[in-house]
Amino acid sequence: MLKAQIPSIALEGRVDLHCHSTASDGILSPAALVSRAKSQGVTLMALTDHDTVAGVAEARDTGARLGVAVLAGVEFSARWGRRTVHILGIDVDPASAALQEAVALRDRLREDRSVRIARCLEKRGFPGSLAGARALAGDGVLGRPHFARWLVESGYVEDTARAFKRYLGAGKVGDVKVEWPQVEETVGTIHAAGGSAVLAHPLKYGLTRTRLRLLLEAFRGAGGDAAELLCGRQNPVQTRELRQLLDAVNAESGAAPLRCSLGSDFHQPGQPWRELGCVHLPADVEPVWAARRP
Ligand SMILES: [Zn+2]
Ligand SMILES: [Zn+2]
Repeated sequence: MLKAQIPSIALEGRVDLHCHSTASDGILSPAALVSRAKSQGVTLMALTDHDTVAGVAEARDTGARLGVAVLAGVEFSARWGRRTVHILGIDVDPASAALQEAVALRDRLREDRSVRIARCLEKRGFPGSLAGARALAGDGVLGRPHFARWLVESGYVEDTARAFKRYLGAGKVGDVKVEWPQVEETVGTIHAAGGSAVLAHPLKYGLTRTRLRLLLEAFRGAGGDAAELLCGRQNPVQTRELRQLLDAVNAESGAAPLRCSLGSDFHQPGQPWRELGCVHLPADVEPVWAARRP
């Protein structure tokens, strides 16, 4: 992503480089999402749906009409050791063959996972979850949040948080493993599509400080461009600690230092701490849009 390609006026308002629409598990259509961003003072945003760029064209059309610069983005699931991490591709070319291939592969992996989740839920006495989750996803990418919503709407649990806690979260019956492509491969895909690779929400993987440092080092070693210093709900102490870790990792010799990115990870209205454009980067960090790869 080159700063020269971003109109300077787009950097005068709020920036939000991580949000979701109905193309994956968000509640708002791409057009409604961009309108909402506009009303929140956002002037530069990236639509980063899970494993798809299907919403980008609509978001860009709306952005062009409303005066919001919309970058094409995606949030890929990737494998780091035995864990799943999320890597954002920011300012990618949605038509690139590498990107399309990666999206198609993840489609197959998600489909396979959904069938296995449904089978597990059926064994627990919840039949019909695959059709139900699919209906909720509509044309969007099917994910665990749709199963969670189906469990709520069918009256099996009170809310989606409990659906994850009891049935879909780590170690529960619907927690089926997926062999996502590795971090290195995913960064390579994003670069091949002309984008910047950003490690999403580093604080949300439940890692110890030592493990988080290893992840940041691995991501930098894999050619990653930036990490989200700020994402959604995060207190200032956490942000300060993450900043210190990033500084320490960047002080090591090796690949180019990781820049900083930011985003709300907005999925739906009514979550006050995850409103679009709700976070700001400190002035003294190198933002991802300043990154220049040779
Ligand atoms: Zn994520
Ligand atoms: Zn996200």
